[in-house]
Amino acid sequence: MIFEYKLNTPSQGLVDITSELCEAIKESGVNEGICVVFCPHTTAAVTINENADPDVRSDFVAGMDRIFPDMEIFRHREGNSDAHLKSSAVGASEVIIIRKGKPLLGTWQGVYFCEFDGPRTRKFYVKIMKG
Ligand code: ZN
Repeated sequence: MIFEYKLNTPSQGLVDITSELCEAIKESGVNEGICVVFCPHTTAAVTINENADPDVRSDFVAGMDRIFPDMEIFRHREGNSDAHLKSSAVGASEVIIIRKGKPLLGTWQGVYFCEFDGPRTRKFYVKIMKG
């Protein structure tokens, strides 16, 4: 079972997609299993991080800018090599255990779509497997 979601992203930032994930699991009817959240873009990513203090999300963006600044040595004509680096560093997918019909996440964890070169209309997939 594959679910596809669309979202409009900010220029940079983490968009909470935990509720979409919960919705997909509920709709699938799977109680115990695994789900994969996949981002099909080269300047975006998926991650799991804190869902309590919104400063963590803005610090994430600020930190990634420090770690992967735009550099003069970059040759990519589109001018967004920093976003490509961030995308690969964070990763295109997350695997999450499903227990009792819900994603097994820690109390302070949420699932995030990471935009590094927006604003854009993006999509992500949720694949759910029983087992
Ligand atoms: Zn590019």
